[in-house]
Formats: sequence, structure tokens, C-alpha cells
Amino acid sequence: MRLKTEASQARIPADELTALIARYDGRAPRYTSYPTAVQFSPAVTAATYMSWLQDLSAAEPVSVYLHVPFCARLCWYCGCNTRAVNHPEPIGDYVRLLLQEFSLLRDALPGTLAASGLHFGGGTPNMLSVDEVHAIFDRLAQVFRFTPELEAAAELDPAVLTRDWVAAATSRGLNRVSLGVQNLTPQVQQAVNREDTIEQISDCVAWLRDAGVRSVNLDLMYGLPHQTTQNTLSTIDQVMRLRPDRLALFGYAHVPWMKAHQKLIDEAALPGAADRLDQSESAAERLVAEGYVRIGLDHFALPDDPLSVAQANGALRRNFQGYTTDSARTLLGLGASAIGSLPQGFAQNAAQELTWRAAVLRGELPVARGAAVTDEDRFRGDIIERLMCDFTVDLRAVAARHGRSDLAFEREFMRLQVFVDDGLVRLDGPRIQITPRGRLLVRSIAAVFDVYFSAEAKRHARAI
Ligand code: SF4
Repeated sequence: MRLKTEASQARIPADELTALIARYDGRAPRYTSYPTAVQFSPAVTAATYMSWLQDLSAAEPVSVYLHVPFCARLCWYCGCNTRAVNHPEPIGDYVRLLLQEFSLLRDALPGTLAASGLHFGGGTPNMLSVDEVHAIFDRLAQVFRFTPELEAAAELDPAVLTRDWVAAATSRGLNRVSLGVQNLTPQVQQAVNREDTIEQISDCVAWLRDAGVRSVNLDLMYGLPHQTTQNTLSTIDQVMRLRPDRLALFGYAHVPWMKAHQKLIDEAALPGAADRLDQSESAAERLVAEGYVRIGLDHFALPDDPLSVAQANGALRRNFQGYTTDSARTLLGLGASAIGSLPQGFAQNAAQELTWRAAVLRGELPVARGAAVTDEDRFRGDIIERLMCDFTVDLRAVAARHGRSDLAFEREFMRLQVFVDDGLVRLDGPRIQITPRGRLLVRSIAAVFDVYFSAEAKRHARAI
């Protein structure tokens, strides 16, 4: 009940809404990394990545991300690196190359590292055949030692999930799953080329739970064409019967200049900024009323879920998959477009499958770009991560963690003043506190500490 009250207080009165949107609905990054991917450049090469890998500590567990860039359909809102395929050959070819990339990685690592996290993303990882799932897990076990508390997660498309696939993946350790739901209204589904029923999704959840998957996340969206607050809440009513452990609520990011298939979306049917805000806040209030804890900007979890516990303990993290409890300092990415995050910086594989494939066939790690991080980047990245996760940050405490005594943030404090004047931020010495009504603007507030942001602002999606 306390949380419900907090969520209600976060509601911005309608008469203030227009002015706030006009002022802040800029294009701020989602801050799944700092620097963000916009800053990645070809200066980070396979040789750079190789040297970073060799310097990893053999004593520290890592996480592994595998990208599967295939789907059975192309949802027009999708921002992922994927393509629709309707026959198995390209996937089989891809998996053969992926297994070769594993060999290249194994040769570059300083030994057999422990892996505490594994994430299959996409695309649609359940486009892999059962045999391909087994082949990948066999190779993973040759390159890494799985820790007993391994979290093995996958993003799955309910339209093509089968009970056999669930049985195969869970027999190899899959224990966390994210299923896309988005919105269950037929008019919305038709407008984005993704038509699923609650019955299909219910079957998938039942198979997963029967097979022992301990955490099921459902992805919802707001801001889709023809989406309204009413049909958003109706979707929530339907999925509440499944009592997912977690939900994510993402705003549709309309960036047709980056994702050509989004041009298929009728822009006239897209809700405006005020309607998007109402959809997201109404959904958040409903989920909190249903007993979920609001996690960061766009996640919700049952109170005893590790995500809720991490948030309560100040241990929530942010990575390319969003909010996470993963505390590994190193994430190794495999597959086309996969991004790795190492203590030295970020390395991204070639996004184009052909380029990725050619590099692997040449026997080279298929890195195309990235960013080495400086001490200043780590410091600012830590501040931004705390704001994104906790909505508050003690600059002096972060500085101490980074061995700094100086806090040269005069420019940032000047820029924060406008948020203070609007009641979105409170300043208390070195502590920045985002108020409940400022939560939705956390990306814009965090951007104050991003020295790269202003010049690239147009390449990001709406902040609300
Ligand atoms: S939303 Fe999921 S299923 Fe749809 S195209 Fe994107 S990755 Fe594929």
C-alpha cells in the first residue's frame, strides 16, 4: 500500500504535463552502458579485444551473452538486430560459425573462466533447433566452468515456442525466461505485425514452470500504434492471471531513420507524448497495486524476487539487457552485433552477419568497434548507473570509490537547477535525489553527467 501511494504521488498533474513534456521530452540515451553505443568506434579492433581478454583475471566469474539474429516474423516496432527466416539452413550455418567463434574466444582467454551468467538474446533464441541448443551448451561447457548459482536466461517468442524446446533448454540449465507480450489488443497487434493470444502465452508459461524455470518475465510495451491507456490496462488484467515474477514495460522507440522496417508503422496512429506518459504511469500504478515492486525506470518484480532485493540493498545494476542483479565485471558477447563489456572497455562484434561471418572464417575475433573506457568514463558511468538504478546518488561516495577527492561538477549543478526548479530533483550537498515525480525523466537527468550526450542527442529515442 505504501508503494501504491508513492506511485500515485509520482503522477504529474495534467496542467503541468504539457510544459514538462515540451521542456524535457528530448532524446536521451537509455544508459545501458556509459559511454553509450553511439560513442563506439572502429578504434577498438580484434587486436584490442584480444589484449583485453588476455588480461582478464582467471579468478573472476564472467557472464556470457549469445546473440541469435533470427525470428519467425518481423515485428514492426522491433529495435533488435534480427531478420525473419522461414527455413532452418541459415540458422544452422550461423550456429556452425558461432561454435567457431567460441573456439577463437577460448584461445584468447587466459584459461577456463567461471561463468555465473548466461543470456541468450536476439532475435528469437527459440528459433534454434533442439540439437543446436545442445551443441551450444556442449561448447559452452568446453570453454567455461558454470558456477552452481548459474543464471541462464533466454528471450523467447511465444509464437514459436514448443514444449520440446523448453525441455531441451531446461535440461541444460535454462532457469530464467523472458517472453514478449507487448499488447494483447487485436488492433494494436495488427498494426505492428505481431498477433498472439493470451492462451498461447499461458501455455508457454505453464510449460516453462512445469520444467522448473524459476523466473518468468513478461515484456509489455506502451506507445505502440493505436495503443491507449485502456487497452494497456486490459493487457495487464489478462497477464496478471499468470502472475509473472517480473515484468518490463518499455516505451516504443520510433527511430525509422535507424530501423527501416519501422517505416511500416503508421505514424498517425502513434500516441503523443502525453498519452505515452499516461499509458506508462497508469500501467505502473496498476502493477504496483497488484503487489509488484517498481524497479528502476521500467521493470517490476514480486517483492521477494532477487531484482527487488537488489534494489532494496542498493545492488541493482544496469547492463545491455536492462536492470539486472548480475554483478560480474565482465560480459563476453558472441554472435553478430553482440556487445562485450570488460573492465577495459566495450567491444562490439560486426552487426552485419556477412561481416561477422567473414571475420570468423578468417580466424579472427569478429570485433568491429567499441570504446576503451577512461577513469573519467568509469566515474561518470557509476554516477549515471546509480541514478538510473536508485534515483539518488551521493557524489562524494562515488568519488571515494574511484579514489577521487575532487568534485568538479559546477557545470552539471548549473544544468540540474532547472530540474530542481520544477521539483524533479532535490539537492542536498553532494547528494542528488530524484523526486517521485522526476522518475520518468531520469534519463534526461542522468544525461547531465554524460559529456558525450549533447552532440549526439538526435540519435536517441524519446526520453518519455
Ligand atoms: S520483437 Fe522479438 S520476435 Fe519480434 S522481430 Fe523483434 S526480436 Fe523478433
